[in-house]
Order: sequence, then structure tokens, then C-alpha cells
Amino acid sequence: MAEKDNASERVIIVGAGPVGSVLALALRQRGIPILLIDQLAAPERDCRAASCHPPTIAMLEQLGLLEAGLEQGLVSPVFHYLDRVTSERIGRFALPEMQAPPAHPYVLQWEQYKITETIEARLRDDAGAEIQRETTLVDITQTQDGVIATVERGDGSRDTLAGAYLVGCDGGRSTVRKLAGIAFEGFTWPERFIKIDTRHDFTTLGSHISNRNYFSDPDEWMNLFMARGEDGSGMWRAVSPTLPDQPDEELLSPDAIEARLQKFCPKQGRYEIVTVALYNVHQRIAATFNQGRVLLAGDAAHVNNPIGGMGMNGGIHDAMNLAAKLDSILHDGAAAQPLLDRYTRQRRKAQVDGVQAQSIANKQMLGEKDPEIRAQKLADVRHASQTPELHDAFIRRACMIDSFAAAEATE
Ligand SMILES: Cc1cc2nc3c(=O)[nH]c(=O)nc-3n(C[C@H](O)[C@H](O)[C@H](O)COP(=O)(O)OP(=O)(O)OC[C@H]3O[C@@H](n4cnc5c(N)ncnc54)[C@H](O)[C@@H]3O)c2cc1C
Repeated sequence: MAEKDNASERVIIVGAGPVGSVLALALRQRGIPILLIDQLAAPERDCRAASCHPPTIAMLEQLGLLEAGLEQGLVSPVFHYLDRVTSERIGRFALPEMQAPPAHPYVLQWEQYKITETIEARLRDDAGAEIQRETTLVDITQTQDGVIATVERGDGSRDTLAGAYLVGCDGGRSTVRKLAGIAFEGFTWPERFIKIDTRHDFTTLGSHISNRNYFSDPDEWMNLFMARGEDGSGMWRAVSPTLPDQPDEELLSPDAIEARLQKFCPKQGRYEIVTVALYNVHQRIAATFNQGRVLLAGDAAHVNNPIGGMGMNGGIHDAMNLAAKLDSILHDGAAAQPLLDRYTRQRRKAQVDGVQAQSIANKQMLGEKDPEIRAQKLADVRHASQTPELHDAFIRRACMIDSFAAAEATE
């Protein structure tokens, strides 16, 4: 495919998080020049996402990233639901045991900072990719045949950058979305989530612990996941809810963190804590993902609670879908508006029917307070894990296999 190196034909990507990085690589694979800008001086050591579901793993393979992912990440073929009140395992879901398993029958726990660092290193060796850091988007002008981005450099000076399209991959507080005046519909949960990274090995709790564990508890549910960590020796992530209005000092003091973990898993001696972070949690979707030559992908277009590990995955699915459509428009002369409208229809469907619905259901399942409803939800999970068709359908929803397929099938 012929390379296009004219600045007016390149795609400007705002935000070098996992979604902007994947989009940049996917466009480069299709011979489209890109300019990737980010306000930060270097890739962020962002410890949010760590789970890649099977459709995403297939995309990583398509991008030539799977080998690095397997080397740096952790393969998790099984996930567990547990009752924190009784310590009983309620359900075991095993991807390789599905009647029709996906090509990659596992979740790949590959931390998002490792994904972005791996991609950025590849883009830096690619003449068709330009990366400008300490470059913050502040304004956008759309013209008949392009987009002009106004940016502010690290030294406070301003510059303009031209491109054929501009894609906002600039996260939940997206400047691109705000400048385009696109509504971000949905709601914010009253409680925040706290994430604690520790080196303590929770498999000592027993064989009911896998790499991926969802503990239901009406008072304090817990998500407990293992990742490889920076040095590959293993890092556990414990995510649990806070009470609405609890002040940061009360939640983040070393004693409060210690007490939270000791309550979950009593042990001798203090926990070795690596990082702690508090997150506001939202369920929101942009009214549209395309407005003329300005497009949205990833958290800029949708945000959801992290139970189930779907936000980054959904954003990567956006990026791959959009890269194919921009390729048809820029290389094959396809009409832009209908294709980009279809991008919004497809990826909004994946959000509305899949990610948003599933992540809300996940949270309600783990935190249900009504004893009867809670008992019923746990019984449903147990029944699903023991019934082959329901077991498989549960995994297809939890691992975004259904939401991806439904989006692709949308006209
Ligand atoms: C505790 C937790 C756990 C999670 N776990 C998972 C998981 O396991 N799996 C999963 O799929 N998702 C998970 N998520 C969600 C996931 O982290 C996000 O969906 C993901 O980071 C979104 O990626 P992004 O590239 O769209 O945005 P971001 O990662 O937010 O990146 C946005 C980038 O844009 C840059 N930027 C912003 N504004 C500008 C500007 N004006 N100009 C230039 N640059 C700008 C920022 O510096 C940043 O680099 C989790 C979230 C949390 C809170």
C-alpha cells in the first residue's frame, strides 16, 4: 500500500494512552501517517487496566503485539466468583472448557503501561509516525478538507497542527469531546473505588483463589487480581468500594489501608503496599463518536466502572474499528459520513448493550445488599457455572465476546 506522508493527509491522535497508542499502530499498519500528541512528557506508569479479553487478544495478535504481551503479561484461563461472607467459591468459569472456545481461550493480564510503552517504542522507529509529547490540545478548527489543532507546548508557546482527521483518545475528561460540544450522558456512582497494589501472594488463602477473583459482599465487595508487575515477580491488585463522603485522608492513611487488607485476609506482619489510588466511578457514553472530521475513541467516548476490566478493551475495539474505516476513506475513497456514522452506531451499541449493561450488572451482583436478591444472584452464578450452555454464555458476556460480535454485525 502506498505511504501517504503529506501532513494534511495524516490523522492527528490526541492522547497516547492505550487507546491512542493502539489506534496509531493500527493506522500505521494500514500505511496511514499519524501524529500522536500527549500532554505528558513520558508514557504514564498508569496502573489502571491489566485485563485483555479474548477479542482484544486477537487484535493484539493482528498488531504484532501478542508475543510481547505473553512475555510481559500473565495468562489467566479461569476466573472465580466467591462469597466473601462465607469464603465459599460460588462459581468457576474456565475459557478452555467452553464448547466453542475463542481462538485465545484466556484473559491476558498485561498492564496498560506496558502496552503503551511497547507501542511507543515501535512507533519511534517508524518514519510514518510522529510523536509529540508535552503537547496539549487546546482548540480545534474544522475546515472543508481537514482539521487544524491548536496545541500548547511545554514551554507555554502555541502552535497549530494540520491533519485530515483528529481523533480524541484523551480520556474521560476529553478536551476534544468538550470542544466539539458532544454531551457525555450517564451518571456517577456515589461511592469511590480504592485500588491497592501489594506483593502479598493471596494464593496462600487456598485453591479457591485464581488469578481473577470477584468477591461478593453486601458491606465491602472485593476484586482481587494478579498481574506480573514491573519486575515480573507478581503484583496483586485489590479493588473495593469506599463509603460515600469518606475523606481521602481517612481512606489513604497507611493504617487504614492495612486494616482494609487485614480485614479481607488476616495475616501476620504488615502488607507490603506498592501503590494506592482512589477513583471516581462513572457510567457515561458520548452522544456521538463522530462530528465531521473529529472522532472519539476510548474513555473520551465512554467510561464505566472497572469491575470486569472492560474500559480499555472497549477502547481498543473502537480503535481497531475506526482504523479500518479511516483506511477505506483515505485509501479507497469511500464516502466518509456514512462510514463514520456506522462507527458510532457499532461502537455505541457495544457500549450500551454490552459494556455499560455488563459492568453495572457486575457491580450490582457483587455489592447487592438485599439478602433475598443477593441469595438469588449468587444462586444464578452457581447455576451458570454448573450448566455448560449458561457457563459459556456467562463467559461470552463477561469477556466481551458477545458485545464485540454484536457491534460488528450492526449496520
Ligand atoms: C482501577 C481501574 C482498573 C481498570 N482495569 C481495567 C482493566 O483491567 N481492563 C480494561 O479494559 N479497563 C480497565 N480500566 C479502565 C482503563 O484504565 C481505561 O478505560 C483506559 O485507561 C482508557 O484508555 P484511553 O487511552 O482511552 O485513556 P487514558 O488512559 O485516560 O489516556 C488518555 C491520554 O490522553 C492524554 N491527554 C488528555 N488530555 C489531553 C490533551 N488535551 N492534550 C494532549 N493529551 C491529552 C493523557 O495524558 C493520557 O495519556 C480500569 C480502570 C480503573 C480505574
